[in-house]
Amino acid sequence: MDDIRKRSKDTQCVHASLMEDANGAVVPPIYQTSTFKFRNADHGAALFAGREKGYIYTRMGNPTVEGVEKAVAVLEGGYAGIGCGSGMAALHLAFASILRAGDHVVCSESVYGPVVGLLNVQFSNFDIDVSFVDTSDLEAVKAAMTPKTKLVHVETPGNPTLVITDLAAMAKIAHEGGAKMTVDNTFMSPVLQRPLEHGADMVIHSMTKFLNGHADVVAGMVVVKDEDAYRLVRGMSNAFGGTIDPFNSFLVARGIKTLAIRVQRHNESGKKVAAFLDTHPKVESVMYPGLESHPGHDVHAKQADGPGGLISFELTGGLEAGKVLMDSVKLCVLAVSLGGVETLIQHPAAMTHASMGPEGRRQAGITDGLVRISVGIEDVGEIIADLEQGLEKV
Ligand SMILES: *Cc1c(COP(=O)(O)O)cnc(C)c1O
Repeated sequence: MDDIRKRSKDTQCVHASLMEDANGAVVPPIYQTSTFKFRNADHGAALFAGREKGYIYTRMGNPTVEGVEKAVAVLEGGYAGIGCGSGMAALHLAFASILRAGDHVVCSESVYGPVVGLLNVQFSNFDIDVSFVDTSDLEAVKAAMTPKTKLVHVETPGNPTLVITDLAAMAKIAHEGGAKMTVDNTFMSPVLQRPLEHGADMVIHSMTKFLNGHADVVAGMVVVKDEDAYRLVRGMSNAFGGTIDPFNSFLVARGIKTLAIRVQRHNESGKKVAAFLDTHPKVESVMYPGLESHPGHDVHAKQADGPGGLISFELTGGLEAGKVLMDSVKLCVLAVSLGGVETLIQHPAAMTHASMGPEGRRQAGITDGLVRISVGIEDVGEIIADLEQGLEKV
């Protein structure tokens, strides 16, 4: 294969994790080993000193893990990836590599629920302050920046309200303020959005979602843009030890091979489901960046190649109506998580964003009646029919 980085996303998805194999295996084997044998004492010493390239111990590097790290780095247009045991481990690793005691963080208020706790509780133990702001409002972000701000963390589309943040404008504000910008790109995947191209310093993925795509792995990734950041984050990863294992790396690399075609279907079906919900009399409002009525529609269209498969909507009947709908669907699965081949439906106020508390949810615009759906790759007519029969019971 010639330079994989110059290939299209469709080709990168299929080929980026493949490696030369001594036996010519098209799909490299799973290196299910904790440790690697040295040829002799000098070889071991040379590997530890970094004079020679090679594998020592799986927490520090493993060929199967490297396959998936390379695939995500290539897709994101980054220098390298550092695989993690979960998306939360990846967020922790990225934040810990940038922040020091006394620093301040500006974070999107519409963000993956547990990130609120990670910053408010766990990082505050290390004397790190956080302000949650509406990052779709550039003036609000500027106002929140302080001389101590060293990190701006963004999710776009934001979770679960699908609010859109202008990545290039946000990177400019962060960098002018002397801060780094990290972007959680889980909702879009690199097939639809590549934050490094818009000025981000690091990209984080919960590979549990679209990258793996089959709801059978929990894993994460940090993608960095240069060698200095790589050394820093890899060193931290070796020390914290929250690494991904070879078997999960193999599964995610396999999932990534179909990422581009899965995302294409998520986009097409997402648009159809959003259009259906948008005209339904029992639906008060639909939040989906593919709808022209979405306030972030134009910004999203500028920085991403499609609206994706996540839709949030508000029922006219509020919380009770949402419960009836979730208890009435027959095809859509009532479960948290997203980005898998099956359609999942859930209730953020009672589930993924319960830990934020009523005040935090109110500030982030997460109402009690909000329902989030991750549109899968089933027959879209059957997904819509299922929602239709569920809404009839509301
Ligand atoms: C799921 C998710 C995470 C956390 O990932 P885990 O793999 O569950 O640890 C982080 N960010 C977003 C946007 C997510 O959807």
